[in-house]
Amino acid sequence: MHIAVVSLGAFGHVNPTLALVTELVRRGERVTYFTTEEFRRIIEPTGAKFVPVHSWMAENDPQKRGAKTAEDENKEKDSVAALVPFLFLNEARAYIDDILEVLEEDRADAIVHDFAGIAGTAAADALHIPNVMLYTSYPSNESYSVAESFSGVPADHPLRIAADRIAEELAAKYGCRRMTVKEIFDGQGDLNLVLMQKRLVPGSGSFDDSFVFTGVQIGERPAFGTWRRPDNGKPLLYSSLGTAFSNWPEYYPILFDAVRELDINVFAALGPVDPASLPDVPANVELRQMVPQLDILSQADIFITHAGMGGTGESIYYGVPMIAIPQMDEQAITARRIEETGLGLAFYDKRSITSASLREAIERILKDPTYKKTAEEFSEDMRSLGGTPATADALLNFLGGR
Ligand code: UDP
Repeated sequence: MHIAVVSLGAFGHVNPTLALVTELVRRGERVTYFTTEEFRRIIEPTGAKFVPVHSWMAENDPQKRGAKTAEDENKEKDSVAALVPFLFLNEARAYIDDILEVLEEDRADAIVHDFAGIAGTAAADALHIPNVMLYTSYPSNESYSVAESFSGVPADHPLRIAADRIAEELAAKYGCRRMTVKEIFDGQGDLNLVLMQKRLVPGSGSFDDSFVFTGVQIGERPAFGTWRRPDNGKPLLYSSLGTAFSNWPEYYPILFDAVRELDINVFAALGPVDPASLPDVPANVELRQMVPQLDILSQADIFITHAGMGGTGESIYYGVPMIAIPQMDEQAITARRIEETGLGLAFYDKRSITSASLREAIERILKDPTYKKTAEEFSEDMRSLGGTPATADALLNFLGGR
């Protein structure tokens, strides 16, 4: 088989595909991977053929341009629901010719992509090949619509109008479906591979057989290196706000003061925040911008997370209770599920967190064994879903049966 993968150039979208691609290559399948150049060093070790694509976001996304101004931050917060489809569609328009140029010459049996990899849907339609949706986030069903959280954007919002125009242009030029907000966030693939736990998904009883839940994809990530926790027998707190919407330097002084007097080790992944810009780092805190998260979670006792889908699944896999500090709507849904299920605690309004309240939450989770017990129970369920081998089986069975 020849399988094409299309990913938005962002860690939250590329990382969940790495173990699957590695597994497919290991089984002797040919994989061609389309994403932005900066991910070459991460994709190539999987054995897939890496094809760089043109990127609109690499030049226009404020987070990638460097530090955001306060004005950028406010604008982005106000209009994130308008901005996201606009970014995705611009990126699709930048990618698509690069994808078609390769796949018209070297036909693929399917294109695998997630909701953000819109160029994958468009290319699959244009080439009349199966479109396999990889859910790194919630799938929609009759009782739950991801697109709904974008419905507050007025139809005459300039970014919504611009996004609709791109969708129309793609449909006219490539003969693909019109990628409306509804189609982007609630649309389905010919096969739907959900990389999360069914029990975390709202209304999870209603999915048909085209939805296969295989859980988080844990695999080797050689490009990220390794890490060993200090050998002092103290609990390890790992903190990461992820790789998108994570430029929040004001959080770190709060974290530092929360943990300064605690008898624990702390490791914080800063993402876009420059460690040199953070004064007064406590002796028990280690900082780095990008870290080998799986390695760290496998040794951690508590995870302060933005409740991104990747990090949440990874934390569950390793049985680590969480403190969720969501940075956007989807993460707030997950934060609520974390709290409801007893996997941890959540702060829904990040602006109201204080060192005292964060410290209290850390102490509560470390002292109350029920959080760890619940996390271990979820971990067992997560592992039973089969992870990457199950995802590869589902994909190859689907393609073999066509
Ligand atoms: N990640 C990592 N090192 C870091 C930060 C993040 O390896 O320093 C990985 C993490 O393991 C996860 C992904 O990046 O697989 C982040 O995805 P998630 O959905 O948690 O958050 P996002 O960054 O998309 O908001």
